Amino acid sequence: VGGIVKEPPMHVVHVAVEMAPIAKVGGLGDVVTSLSRAVQELGHKVDIIFPKYDCMNLSNVKDFHFRQSFAWGGTEIKVWFGKVEGLSVYFLEPQNGMFSVGCIYGRNNDGDRFGFFSRAALEFLLQSGIRPDIIHCHDWSSAPVAWLFKEHYRHCEMSNARVIFTIHNLEFGVHHIAKAMTYADKATTVSQTYSKEISGNPAISPHLYKFHGIVNGIDPDIWDPYNDNFIPVAYTSENVVEGKRAAKEALQQRLGLRKYDYPLVGIITRLTVQKGIHLIKHAIWRTLERNGQVVLLGSSPDPRIQNDFVNLANQLHSSHADRARLCLEYDEPLSHLIYAGSDFILVPSLFEPCGLTQLIAMRYGAIPVVRKTGGLYDTVFDVDNDKERAQAQGLEPNGFSFDGTDVGGVDYALNRQSNHCMV
Ligand code: ADP
Repeated sequence: VGGIVKEPPMHVVHVAVEMAPIAKVGGLGDVVTSLSRAVQELGHKVDIIFPKYDCMNLSNVKDFHFRQSFAWGGTEIKVWFGKVEGLSVYFLEPQNGMFSVGCIYGRNNDGDRFGFFSRAALEFLLQSGIRPDIIHCHDWSSAPVAWLFKEHYRHCEMSNARVIFTIHNLEFGVHHIAKAMTYADKATTVSQTYSKEISGNPAISPHLYKFHGIVNGIDPDIWDPYNDNFIPVAYTSENVVEGKRAAKEALQQRLGLRKYDYPLVGIITRLTVQKGIHLIKHAIWRTLERNGQVVLLGSSPDPRIQNDFVNLANQLHSSHADRARLCLEYDEPLSHLIYAGSDFILVPSLFEPCGLTQLIAMRYGAIPVVRKTGGLYDTVFDVDNDKERAQAQGLEPNGFSFDGTDVGGVDYALNRQSNHCMV
């Protein structure tokens, strides 16, 4: 099209352990689905190899059926097939019960389970005659694919395949990641700024010649306020005011908050140190002090942090019952209503490889308030301070951002938010 030379279509196989909406913990799940759909739309063939978790939501898998089974690793592995968001997915179900443990992560043998899965995925490709051009693996969980492929499959009929390894978060499993960096043909991470931030890490620095930062996107058809079952009124930029007002009222009603037209700040996050817990807490109090409302949707893998927030919730639900609600769980439908019903989405991460919540926020007409780090820096342009940086990319300022990790930074962003928006 338009002078672009069209390359012949390639066959890309992802080996991944999260995929929205069937088994998602965080952004990795969103990206496996949205990247695959985007590449498929360009005309390439895309398959995903995925564990068949017992805790998976199969109602979102179309045409689910048994395909074949093969023997490997001292067990029988059943292979199921189905379509998820229009993508072909092969589900591996080892009969040794490795993925029948009621969760995706959180067992003390996660490394062994996903190591087994990585090898089983390659064995499945070999035994079923699938010959991809690209094998794409993600984070520590399928990192073993990179070296297992080069160590065990280099000389078989699959040897033409090239391996891509993407780092979604270097914090998880840096040891695995270093080895995958060595073996992968190309490596990527999820924003330019994050690629620079981690370029000095000894796992990364020897490999800069094959390492690229490519910013994540969201799938505009999956996150679409005009076509979203979880919000009351469909909207586009044309009727955004009505659509968001209806969503805010529905959110206030559902959570028992007062119907009230002051700014509503939403926070949707895993509650981990990375996400800036002290800044989140401070921002909640600050917003309440300034008469706003706050809704937080989040849960923590760490029981101490979870408990801490349960205590905070108890305190806030009695001191500010009509203006603050903390929902300390994972709830995909509620997340949609919060994106739609919020005026602002706060993302004060200490580091953030890309971050998707600020992108979803913009899609739903909520203004992102973020700390300037990683992909948050690359995607959010401050209304007062980043006009030129936005213009250089043909964009407009689209949010508020702040530096530093002390509470003064958050205050700087939140205070201006009210100056700009609360006339
Ligand atoms: P990370 O991958 O570090 O968790 P991202 O911003 O890349 O962070 O992706 C987070 C994704 O998970 C977003 O789609 C967000 O809406 C979703 N999410 C996070 N916490 C929750 C929750 N408690 N309930 C529902 N969705 C959540």
